[in-house]
Amino acid sequence: MNSLYKDFLVITPIHKPGVRILFDTRETCSLVANSGIVGFCLLGLALEFELIQREYAKKMKIQFLGAAGEVTGSRHLVELLLNGKTRHFMVDYGMFQGGREATNKNLGVMPIPPKELDFVVLTHAHIDHSGLLPRLCAQGFKGPIYCTTATYELLKILLPDSAHLQSADLERAERKIKQGKWRGEIPVVLYSREEVEMTLAQIEPLEYGQVINLNPKIQLEFRNAGHILGSAIAVLDIQEDGKQKKRCVFSGDIGMKGKVLMPDPDFISAADVVVVESTYGDRLHRSLSETESELVEVISTTMSAHGNVIIPAFAVGRTQEMLFLLMDLVRKSKLPHLSIWVDSPMATAATHLTQHFFSQLDVQSQATFSWFKNNPDSLDLRFIADVEESKSLNKIKGGAIIISASGMCDAGRIVHHLFNNLPRKQNAIIITGFQAYGSLGRRLVDKVQKVRLFGEDVPVKASVHTIGGLSAHADQAGLLEWLRGFTLPPKITFVVHGEPESASVFAQCIREDLGWKNVIIPERLQIYEC
Ligand SMILES: [Zn+2]
Repeated sequence: MNSLYKDFLVITPIHKPGVRILFDTRETCSLVANSGIVGFCLLGLALEFELIQREYAKKMKIQFLGAAGEVTGSRHLVELLLNGKTRHFMVDYGMFQGGREATNKNLGVMPIPPKELDFVVLTHAHIDHSGLLPRLCAQGFKGPIYCTTATYELLKILLPDSAHLQSADLERAERKIKQGKWRGEIPVVLYSREEVEMTLAQIEPLEYGQVINLNPKIQLEFRNAGHILGSAIAVLDIQEDGKQKKRCVFSGDIGMKGKVLMPDPDFISAADVVVVESTYGDRLHRSLSETESELVEVISTTMSAHGNVIIPAFAVGRTQEMLFLLMDLVRKSKLPHLSIWVDSPMATAATHLTQHFFSQLDVQSQATFSWFKNNPDSLDLRFIADVEESKSLNKIKGGAIIISASGMCDAGRIVHHLFNNLPRKQNAIIITGFQAYGSLGRRLVDKVQKVRLFGEDVPVKASVHTIGGLSAHADQAGLLEWLRGFTLPPKITFVVHGEPESASVFAQCIREDLGWKNVIIPERLQIYEC
């Protein structure tokens, strides 16, 4: 009975692809332990059975459930032996974003029953790192979720909004279906508002630099990642059975040194295992001054042509950065008085929260925000609260800068603004953030002639500008500089959170520039011993 393996049975109703139900065979289904993959009919329901076999931990393992070969769906499952028992914890539990394939992955099943997880360590609040936590909790995870205090405050805004967007998208699709106007996939609701509340109750907020014992064998410390408010690098010191103490560092998303709003990322001097992001591992960002010049050029030209400027922006981080930059450009007299509308309740709340955590911002941003406080008439800055007010923006045909979410244009009020502003050539769309493959934002960046919004074809007549220097992520040089903070090469380095080209180029840079030998680009769902 001392088998090194345990079995899980996955049941997939064939008429509902993507829906998978997991049973631990020790409890429920030992009869089929040797059945492999079997398909048959039971009580008239077509079901497909698949047996997953996992080795019990002898040595620590990491399984990369997402952000492997792509930039969304960050979740890393760690398995190890503590006091003779196999234990599991998760670092991040993010949503996959961008198209139908992402939806199927979001509906996918965990390789172990969620109730077997001891805890979750969350690096930051972005939905691609946190967005499926309510689903995990609804599926049986009852343990603590550790994150920084600011991340917790942001999650109180982001997760309810995510649940709301999902149900609103479905309701809209159902209305359109009734009218015979809907084409394409029907949106999926991954979790409810109640499940979000349940998740928030499981959060244990921590401060940066606070070292806590998650259990007698694992210590956690969050260090500042400089990416968005509350973003952290997770430093875990682990004492496995029969092994030397091991330090695992999960970078989360690393911020750009010298960027606006956030301070520079903290360096970590030692680690045995490093999991590092590589979103921009294959390129260098433009300088801030070049970015400012481009912004001034596009905004000035569009305002002269009496057009609108539409800026899709992540509600958390990017919106506040844009506000800071626009404020700063007005302060430096590079732009005239502007009319700016922030049309995202979540961005409004996140902006208030940014003011609340004022002391966590970088010094220059603190100075600019203080200047605006003393010169409130320098900008006409309005935060839109209700939907009717948002709809009234449709009537503005020129002279407005509208900042709205979601950042990749796939959901939220930005879709309405694009629906109204894409067909007019005097308008400009400014893309300021990363656009994942398959997202509407990516298609705009790729200069498509028309897009399908709300089940209707919309011509893209507005000009689309990509301004690259605003990234919340470090570029190749920034990531390498952060890795240089480790005084000795880690025993193993995993390169995640990058599209294949980016991860591959960056892994090669680590090998060549830093001379680190054991650098791996993990494949999704593969298990790696460390
Ligand atoms: Zn992020």
